[in-house]
Amino acid sequence: MNPVATIRIDPERSVLTGDLDALNHAWAGRRNAVALTGAGVSVESGIPDFRSDCGLWRRFDPMEYATLECFLNDPAKAWDLYRELGTILKDRRPNPAHLALADMENRGDLNGILTQNIDGLHQAAGSRSVVELHGTHSSLHCLGCGHTEPFASTFLKPGPVPSCPACGKALKPNVVLFGEPVREAALAQTLMAGCRTMFVIGTSAEVAPACLYPDGVLRAGGSVLEFNLEPTERTRSGLGPDGVLIEGPVGRTLPLFLDHVQS
Ligand code: NAD
Repeated sequence: MNPVATIRIDPERSVLTGDLDALNHAWAGRRNAVALTGAGVSVESGIPDFRSDCGLWRRFDPMEYATLECFLNDPAKAWDLYRELGTILKDRRPNPAHLALADMENRGDLNGILTQNIDGLHQAAGSRSVVELHGTHSSLHCLGCGHTEPFASTFLKPGPVPSCPACGKALKPNVVLFGEPVREAALAQTLMAGCRTMFVIGTSAEVAPACLYPDGVLRAGGSVLEFNLEPTERTRSGLGPDGVLIEGPVGRTLPLFLDHVQS
């Protein structure tokens, strides 16, 4: 692994500790910062990521259930996952990490967020510039005619697969399944223009095309500030000249990070 400046939470004083000079340097040199977020940013809101040791993803292997193929061949099977995930997402609230990112945008320290999440919690926290690369679970979409409608809570109850009122085809959540192209690529490109500082937060950043955004920043000579519980493949491949890894639960590290750089 390339040596990377690392920051952790001091367990006794609840402040950041480690290579703070590197952190200060990275912050002072930030340019057109954009955040890329993944499932880890919502874990502390009670929404499990793919690695969480929880029932959901053990019973519903995403590579089997969260695929376009599954929805097209057996929509009733795919809806077993959509209902259970919808029940988990219902009534979830933003955690301090979502709020810290909204605060950064309000202060002009962040141009916006590219998120792989489908839970809407960045917007609920007050972030305004949010590109949902994988769509949203809060609405339903018809692949046949393009009809879209809200994901009503009645659809969470067992029953027939919801069908399109316009053309009768099966409806699916308005999310990007494995096998479908990502959304909002043009908006993402616009947000990324001139970005030389990327916050990579709570994501393994292994799923393309999300992983291509930090790659582009690094190729242009920029740096990544990575927030994760642990080093990832991205940490191991290098975070750029001013790169820093901030290790720990992001609901704690992001607010501490803001306290540090704004003090
Ligand atoms: P992932 O499950 O592959 O990785 C999550 C990453 O977050 C891991 O690197 C893990 O170490 C880190 N992490 C977990 N808890 C953390 C915490 N409290 N603080 C800091 N880091 C933490 O998820 P991914 O990289 O986002 O990619 C997989 C796909 O999962 C995405 O396409 C996303 O759409 C989908 N997904 C979304 C949600 C959601 O909307 N909340 C939930 C589950 C899965």
